[in-house]
Amino acid sequence: MVTHDSRIVILGGGAWGLSTALYLSEAGYSDITILERAEAIPSPYSAAYDINKIVRAEYEDDFYSKLALEAIEQWKTPLFGPYYHQTGYVVATTGRAPAKAVTHLNKALASIERDPAFAPGIRRLNTPADFREYTWQYSGPLTGFTGYFNRLAGYAHSSDAMRGLWEHISKRGVKSVLGEEAGKAVQINYAAGNSGRATSVTTADGKTHPADLVISALGAHSAALIPQLGQTSVARCWSVAHVQLTEEECNLLRGIPTTNIRDLGFFFEPDPKTKLFKLCPLGIGYTNPGADGVSLPPGDRLPPPQDFIPRADEDKLRTLLRETFPWMAERPFVDKKLCWFSDTADSDYCIDFVPGSGGSVVALAGDSGHGFKMMPIFGKWVVELLQRGQQSEPRWQWRTPSAGGQQWGDAVSWRVGRGGELTELIEASRSKL
Ligand SMILES: Cc1cc2nc3c(=O)[nH]c(=O)nc-3n(C[C@H](O)[C@H](O)[C@H](O)COP(=O)(O)OP(=O)(O)OC[C@H]3O[C@@H](n4cnc5c(N)ncnc54)[C@H](O)[C@@H]3O)c2cc1C
Repeated sequence: MVTHDSRIVILGGGAWGLSTALYLSEAGYSDITILERAEAIPSPYSAAYDINKIVRAEYEDDFYSKLALEAIEQWKTPLFGPYYHQTGYVVATTGRAPAKAVTHLNKALASIERDPAFAPGIRRLNTPADFREYTWQYSGPLTGFTGYFNRLAGYAHSSDAMRGLWEHISKRGVKSVLGEEAGKAVQINYAAGNSGRATSVTTADGKTHPADLVISALGAHSAALIPQLGQTSVARCWSVAHVQLTEEECNLLRGIPTTNIRDLGFFFEPDPKTKLFKLCPLGIGYTNPGADGVSLPPGDRLPPPQDFIPRADEDKLRTLLRETFPWMAERPFVDKKLCWFSDTADSDYCIDFVPGSGGSVVALAGDSGHGFKMMPIFGKWVVELLQRGQQSEPRWQWRTPSAGGQQWGDAVSWRVGRGGELTELIEASRSKL
């Protein structure tokens, strides 16, 4: 049983670890320590280490739509508000989109059209002129684009939001141990005998951190410390790229809605500080399985490719730009990277006790690429779990591996295309050198 003075060690100071620390501290837990391998927060290893992430409530499952609406309300509070930009959200498919992308768009639209909080701010877009009513800057042909505009959505500056939250919880007394040696958790230690209880965490410098409760919030890295998670929460990556704009170009695009073309990719208004225009291609993504079949981000396993994204993703982004902002379509991409997240077959999160740990280890994993927007409310669900002593929401329970193994990547309903493995991509890029 966890009490208010239990020693709680949170592994990982990313979006979910920070939110968990906030809610635990607000609920009266007084001895909270975050172990984070990066030298500073925000961590470059976090999936949310970025200038922006989409904040929206469209989901195929109303369950998440309602939670995202609650999160959006929290994004408008003094703690999170400075990082939230409600620019509105344009969602569309091109005339060449596969049926899967159109079906997803229609289901997601239905989830918010039914809700009176969103309905007045939604407008269907059927012609290029309709789209230009919301983004006059679209100068490309928008070939066959159909979709909608949703006023109640936008983006958050995710790195800045994590920094702001970290500073806030540090002032509340949450402790942090940072760095590749002092902060990198390498092992959860368990009591001798068969209680299965965790007693401490060892960090890379060999130090032992005693713990009554260990909360793992390691994102894509989860299986490194809780190997059983590797069967159901798979490390997968998507590409991120940027175009460096001039001040005038940046000003030209200020205030544009976050734009998500479901069969190509998405982009945001440029970052006024760096003048970077961020784009992400949409697709299945790539895994990095080791000999044991468990996918983890490269690090120990492969030299991480620097400033690299797959050719097919670059092509998708150039098509997206030709359709929307053709003047940018041949510009070099800068600060290209593969961004790793923790993926589940049904895109449901895992927020549960690790079986056999006697309630001493909690696994927060399976963000499935849609977990950042929940940062302002996520930690509440962890406190509820601790107070109830079990996970009552079936979607978030610890799950057992399915008979089909991990070959479900291409079947996820809201992603189109074919997935692959990182090693194939690196080989392909080397053979072109
Ligand atoms: C390309 C891309 C686009 C995305 N877009 C969106 C979006 O638009 N909207 C949205 O809501 N979500 C989006 N996401 C998902 C979002 O980023 C994640 O859901 C969110 O970051 C999950 O938070 P987390 O805390 O579980 O993991 P992370 O934020 O990845 O944090 C994990 C932390 O663990 C630390 N860590 C790792 N190993 C160790 C160790 N051994 N010891 C100590 N610390 C360690 C890392 O440094 C990191 O800080 C996107 C993800 C990607 C990859």
